[in-house]
Parts: sequence; structure tokens; C-alpha cells
Amino acid sequence: MNIELENHKLEKRLCREVGRAIVDHNMIEAGDRVMVCLSGGKDSYAMLDILLKLQARAPVDFELIAVNLDQKQPGFPEHVLPEYLTKLGVKFHIENQDTYSIVKRVIPEGKTLCSLCSRLRRGILYRVAGELGATKIALGHHRDDILQTLLLNMFFGAKLKGMPPKLVSDDGRNVVIRPMAYVPEKDLVRWAEVRQFPIIPCTLCGSQENLQRKQVGNLLREWDAKFPGRIENMFTALQNVVPSHLMDRSLFPFETLRATGEASEDGDKAFDEEPCAPPMPASPAEGNPFQARAVIPITAGH
Ligand code: SF4
Repeated sequence: MNIELENHKLEKRLCREVGRAIVDHNMIEAGDRVMVCLSGGKDSYAMLDILLKLQARAPVDFELIAVNLDQKQPGFPEHVLPEYLTKLGVKFHIENQDTYSIVKRVIPEGKTLCSLCSRLRRGILYRVAGELGATKIALGHHRDDILQTLLLNMFFGAKLKGMPPKLVSDDGRNVVIRPMAYVPEKDLVRWAEVRQFPIIPCTLCGSQENLQRKQVGNLLREWDAKFPGRIENMFTALQNVVPSHLMDRSLFPFETLRATGEASEDGDKAFDEEPCAPPMPASPAEGNPFQARAVIPITAGH
């Protein structure tokens, strides 16, 4: 296929998937001021890029304001983002906070810095959102981040817990959204090449990337290559939870469960093999203005 056509299809797919996540979770409404967190990595560049495209064609008005937190890591090229954003003509704010020195001072040499670093970053971004009057905070996590988190939480946290597409922040004041929740990482890698984003690495501080997350990421990529469809099914499973077939007693009243004496079409056939469920249909997202132009319903996959 010719490259231009392939890139055009990729752009359409990205817009469709981001639009679909926005509609499914009612992430953006008329009048919203969305603070788009920009780290300088491929994911957040792509998020801003796609949101700008959707904003241009959405029938509702909402504002975008890009925010970067300059954490003062040595060698951080502080001119890159302001130059890029000025060229794009996007409203932006650069928040300068030397969290690098704090993290270096507090964490013993040789230990990974990322957990404290991201905790500090989160607190600062929540504050900035309030100061800018943002009604939503958009983060660039994608489908593979969500699946990695699911597996990491199972392996190391003993919890069946992923990464929500929309949540109220722990300080109770902010709504955080992940518009790229449906987007596979490989599409973002490709899109970053197509758009030639001026990527800034997140390892300027010399910290090791989370090794476990890296390994789980590799595992998912291997599966994707060997068993096409497995990743999509795992992701669909997150939207298709059956509490009566798990073991969380707070979600299903096993203790009080009794025979009803009545046959039910939907009842479990305890001794039968469970057939594979068909893929979930795309949600109708009725009444959401993004449906009108930004979203093309899908018929297969998740
Ligand atoms: S790699 Fe460095 S900048 Fe990135 S989260 Fe970890 S400590 Fe923070």
C-alpha cells in the first residue's frame, strides 16, 4: 500500500479511536477547558495532535491548553516544547518546578526515582489545573499502558485492577481523562514518525525505567506477534466483566445465593464448556455530540 494512503488510514484510525473513547466515557463536554499534559514523549504529542484534529471538527466548543512541567532534569531542552507549541498556535503553560533536586536528595543512590518523581508531578499538575481553571486533565496513557498496569497489578499487587479511562483525582478536585485509552502503542510509534514529533526522553535524570513494566510490555508485544487478537481480547475483557464468575465477595453475594427454582436463559450452565463470547458491539453513545462527526462506529474488535 502506498505510504500516504497508509498514513491517512492511520490518522483516521487514531481520530476514530480517540473519539470513541471520549464518547464512551463522556470525557469531554461542551464548555470544557482541557489541560493536555505534555511530557515531550510520543504519547502526549500524539494526544495533543489528535485532540486538536477532533476539536476542529467537533460540533461542540471546548478549549485545549497544553501544559508541560519542567522538572529541571539536567540537559532538559527547555526550548523544544515552547517552540513546537508556538508554531502550532496552541495555548500553553510551562510550569517550572525543580522536583529533580528533591527526588535526588530524598531517594538513596541506586534506587529508582520514578515513583516519587511521578507523585510530585501529579500534585503539581493538579494544582496547575486549578490555577488554569481546567475542567479536565488529559493524560496520554494508551491501551498497552492499561494492559501492562492490569498485569502488573495482578502479578505484584494481587488486585484485578487496570488504569481507568476517566477518574476523579485523589484530591477530589479534578477529573482526569485518558482519551488514548483505546489506542494501541504501535500506532503511536508510527504516528510519531509520521509527524516527526521532537521527542524529549524521560530518562534525562538517569533513572532506570521500571524494569517490571518493561518486561510486561515485552511479553504483551510477543503475544501480539505470536497470537494476533489476544491483546484485543484482553482489552475487551476489561469492558466485559462478570462478577459472578470472579471471587470478590464484595461484588457478588455468594453467601446469600440460593436456587430460585426457575430456569433462566441467562443462567450459568455449570458443567458446559464456556463458549467464546462474541466481540462487544460499539456503544451507541446516544446524545453525545462527538458521535456526529468524530466517531465512526466499529463492528468488530473492542
Ligand atoms: S525517568 Fe526520571 S523524569 Fe521520568 S518519571 Fe522516572 S524519575 Fe521522573
